Amino acid sequence: MADEERGAAVGPPPERVGIFGGTFDPIHVGHLVAANEVHHRLGLDRMLLVVAGDPWQKRGEVIASAEARLAMVAAAVAEMPHLEACALEVERAGTTYTVDTVEHLAAPGRELFLVVGSDVAARLGTWHRVDDLARLVTLVVVTRDGEVGPEVPKFATTHVPVPRLDVSSTDLRARVAAGAPIDFLVPAPAVHVLHARRLYTPLR
Ligand code: ATP
Repeated sequence: MADEERGAAVGPPPERVGIFGGTFDPIHVGHLVAANEVHHRLGLDRMLLVVAGDPWQKRGEVIASAEARLAMVAAAVAEMPHLEACALEVERAGTTYTVDTVEHLAAPGRELFLVVGSDVAARLGTWHRVDDLARLVTLVVVTRDGEVGPEVPKFATTHVPVPRLDVSSTDLRARVAAGAPIDFLVPAPAVHVLHARRLYTPLR
């Protein structure tokens, strides 16, 4: 017997939303390939690239302003409707905590998937209000090259293998400072933003 005939309420399926947070200082193809792969493998409706405003784990290490990092992310995904640059943490004053963002995005009829690299997953136990966070999301750990991702206590966790791209924001900043090219490691529209604002270039 169909649910309708039994009188059960049949609503639309939940909206499946991915949350991929990062400093994105700058965004690069490793981030984008991981976000895209998770979107595909988990059949998500939306994938948000959430730019950290003032990440407490990286105090004193973040180089570009939150607004500039958001502009690079927005440029990078402008042609990709299923990937969205999210300004929530940039617009919120004070220290950035993921749990605040997740509470803001939580809604009836919505399922949240928090996407992290295995380096970040291994440190998750130190995060602010981690028990509340664990109640609100499914954790998605992206693993590279047959790597076995960590089990994260308290979280419902799934692992998604993604192609390994050995690129990091730290290396990219060093390349820009040294005058080396970053083309193809960073999407062209984001490279334009980066150069137009003279980011990561030593002042002369
Ligand atoms: P940095 O070199 O400045 O530490 P980062 O890319 O490691 O930069 P974030 O921008 O905060 O730092 O990373 C956002 C997320 O992207 C994290 O979960 C991180 O694990 C993941 N990530 C970083 N580099 C890659 C990559 N090459 N492939 C897949 N995921 C990545």
